Amino acid sequence: MKSLFLTFFSALALSYSSFAQSELVTPLRDDVNKLIDASLESDIGWERLVDLVDYFGPRLSGSETLENSIDWVVEKMRTDGFDRVWTQPVQVPHWVRGNESVTLNEPIQRNLPMLGLGGSVGTPAEGITAEVLVVQSFEELEQRAEEADGKIVLFNVEFTTYGETVQYRLNGASAAAKHGAVASLVASVTSYSMQTPHTGTMRYEEDVPEIPHAAITVEDALLMQRFADRGETLEVTLYMEAQTLPDAESRNVIAEIQGSEYPDEIIVMGGHIDSWDVGQGAMDDAGGCVAAWEALRIIARLNLTPKRTIRVVLWTNEENGLRGAEEYKRWVEEEEKSLSNHVLGLESDSGVFDPLGVGFTGSDEAFAILQEIGKLLDPIEAGEVIRGGGGADIGPLMRAGMPGMGLRVDGERYFWFHHSDADTIDKLNKEDFNESVATMATFVYSVANMEVRLPR
Ligand SMILES: [Zn+2]
Repeated sequence: MKSLFLTFFSALALSYSSFAQSELVTPLRDDVNKLIDASLESDIGWERLVDLVDYFGPRLSGSETLENSIDWVVEKMRTDGFDRVWTQPVQVPHWVRGNESVTLNEPIQRNLPMLGLGGSVGTPAEGITAEVLVVQSFEELEQRAEEADGKIVLFNVEFTTYGETVQYRLNGASAAAKHGAVASLVASVTSYSMQTPHTGTMRYEEDVPEIPHAAITVEDALLMQRFADRGETLEVTLYMEAQTLPDAESRNVIAEIQGSEYPDEIIVMGGHIDSWDVGQGAMDDAGGCVAAWEALRIIARLNLTPKRTIRVVLWTNEENGLRGAEEYKRWVEEEEKSLSNHVLGLESDSGVFDPLGVGFTGSDEAFAILQEIGKLLDPIEAGEVIRGGGGADIGPLMRAGMPGMGLRVDGERYFWFHHSDADTIDKLNKEDFNESVATMATFVYSVANMEVRLPR
């Protein structure tokens, strides 16, 4: 009886609150329709994205290309009619790859396409030549631990999810070194391969010898597995000049339109301007950066004046340090003192493919309002709001209490190209990009311009 009554009561409460939510959102509809139309008709954002990656790609932390890309973005932003454009200095790690190679010597001779993993140490000048132990999991390595001594361990791990499979890229070197391995290799972390190696960050555990760590292709990992299964002895020579130089100077890029009624309340959106040192860093994450920038430009160009401040941040050093995100959070907390007034964060770092909506982390009350806002995107089917989402760069702010969300896209192909030489502009297209712009613009503008502040 009691539970029935409660169910009835909460259903009633829910219907009242969703009435109130649609009341909040309805007045925004005309502006949002203008934003969507202007986003879909624009050529400017897409052309800027193509220019950015063609002239300034890739953009690894510590590289001159990254800093030149930031200069270029800032110069263009200053012509967009924003209230403020500025940069924020950030000290970033400076890892350089240098020349590198993997050669299979036994049982056949072959040069294998490879990429050293970010943060790895290099090899001695003569390289490291050793027998290879092929394992398919950390568990198998533990079972065969005594075979690892003096060898190069190859983790031939089948891709399941990024979160699961990436553990071998992140932690494989220390896992192997604990058992005396002299170097480690991983099958590239990708859901589909055409002999393309994929890089990414890795880390060493304290008090474990630091050994070189590199990715080979899925195809070559499977080839080595087949030889191992036949009982063949495998021998490889790994050569890497990788090294970590002293920290370098980089910058976060920040642009904003100030709120007309509540300028101290901030809605922040963006992506990361740095990339790995391969391909063009088009998908990861120039697309996310330029989509956020273009969304702000379109709001400014339409002379829409949001009640709250809308800020775009292009964070530096997401890939191998997250120093830009940490510095922005420190600045917000200690200097601007706006941490509690960061109303919402939106990050795009999953590629600007066909957008589906956003994934949100925050309260039930805020979630219900965002779902109403999402309905404004029905014309382009990009407004589905689901539970769970955010981004690495807004992560520090979210952990400090800011509601956050990540742009969700049709990401089927994302990991095919991720962190590889194939992350180039031809994998994206203007229509999907413009729809991503429309989606980001709709959510941030609506939250910035509602009568009430989005609840925490
Ligand atoms: Zn990224």
